[in-house]
Amino acid sequence: MENERIYLSPPHMGGTELAYIQNAFDTNWIAPLGPHVDAFENNLSGFLQVKACAALSSGTAALHLALIQLNVQQSDYVICPTFTFSASANPILYQKAIPVFVDSEKETWNMDPELLEEAVQFCLRQNKKPKAIIVVHLYGMPAKLKAIQKIADDHGIPIIEDAAESLGSTYYGKHTGSFGTFGILSFNGNKIITTSGGGALVSSNLEAIKKTRFLATQARDPAPHYQHSTIGYNYRMSNICAAIGRGQMEVLSNRVDSRKKNFNYYQSRLSVLPAITFLPEPENVSSNRWLTTIQIDSTQTSATPNTIRLALESLNIESRPLWKPLHLQPIFAQFPSFVADISTNLFFNGLCLPSGSALTEAHLDRICSSVEATIGS
Ligand SMILES: *Cc1c(COP(=O)(O)O)cnc(C)c1O
Repeated sequence: MENERIYLSPPHMGGTELAYIQNAFDTNWIAPLGPHVDAFENNLSGFLQVKACAALSSGTAALHLALIQLNVQQSDYVICPTFTFSASANPILYQKAIPVFVDSEKETWNMDPELLEEAVQFCLRQNKKPKAIIVVHLYGMPAKLKAIQKIADDHGIPIIEDAAESLGSTYYGKHTGSFGTFGILSFNGNKIITTSGGGALVSSNLEAIKKTRFLATQARDPAPHYQHSTIGYNYRMSNICAAIGRGQMEVLSNRVDSRKKNFNYYQSRLSVLPAITFLPEPENVSSNRWLTTIQIDSTQTSATPNTIRLALESLNIESRPLWKPLHLQPIFAQFPSFVADISTNLFFNGLCLPSGSALTEAHLDRICSSVEATIGS
C-alpha cells in the first residue's frame, strides 16, 4: 500500500503470543497472576542476568514502588534527569518528594555526571542527602554509568535505572537495568517489546522483589481475613498481559537487531546531508536504538524539525519531537534544576524518526526521500 500510515513505534507481535493467551484461557488463568507471570519474570531475569524481577502494571508503577522501598517521603530530594519522559519524575511527586533535575551531557544525551555532583552538593548543603538518583537511558542509549555510579557510591546514594527505553542495550557487556539498586522496565505499546501495557521492577535483592510483589497486590498481611498494616497498591501484571510478554521475549533479540538496522539505514542515507547528525555509540556501549533521532543544524538548512515533521505527516508518516525537558514543563518548573542548555538545544533541534521493528526498506526509503526533499528545498 502506497500510503499506508507509518507509525513512530507500533507494537510488533512475534507470532506465539496468541498461543500463550490461548493457554491462559484453556486453563482459566484469566484472573490476575498465574503461571505466565512467573514464567515472564523468569524470562526477564534470565535475559538481564539479574536475581529477581516483579512484573507490574506499568513502568511508572515500577518506579513508584522503587521509590517507596528506598523510603522516599515528603520533602525528600530525588535526583532525576531533565531530558526524559514525564513518567521518570511523576512518581517522585506521588511521594510528595522534590525532584532535582540534572541536564544531559553531549555524548549520550543522558545525565551529566558533573552536574549530578553539583546537584548532590546542593542537597547536602541543606543537610538532605538525596534518597535516590534516577538514571535514564534515553532512546536506548546507555548513560555514563561508571561516572554516575562513582558519584553515587562516594555519597552512598542508591541508583534507580529507568531502562524503560533501553531493554536489550548493554554497557561494557552488561544489560542496562541490571546496574542499579533497582531497574525499571516498560512494556507500553510503543516500547521495544510490549504486553499492551505493563512494566517490571528488577533487582539483585530478592527480598526487595518479594516486598514489591506484596506492595503491588494491596499489601495483604498473612492472615485468612484481609489484614493490612501498610499502604498497598494494585500494580501487578495480569496473566494475560504476561502471556503476551512471553511471546515477545522470544523475539526480543530480533527486535533489537531490527531497530539497529533502521538506525544504520537512516544514518547511511541521511548523514551525507550536512544538516543532519546522528548520535554515535560510545565505545563498549550498545544501544538498542529504540528510536532513531536526528539533530538538524539550522546553519545548514532552512528546514526545521517541525517542517520535516509536517512534510512527513502530509505523507501519512508519524514522527515526533524529542522529549521536552522536564524543567521546562509547567508541572515541574518550580523544582531545583542544574541545567546548561544541552537538553533544551536537543529538544529544539531534534526529531524522532519512525523506528518500528517491522519497517521495511520500502518504508525507510519513503521516509528518507521526504526528509531529503525537505532539507534540500
Ligand atoms: C515509557 C517510559 C516510562 C513509563 O513506562 P510506562 O510503562 O508507560 O508507565 C518511564 N520512563 C521512560 C523513560 C519511558 O520512556
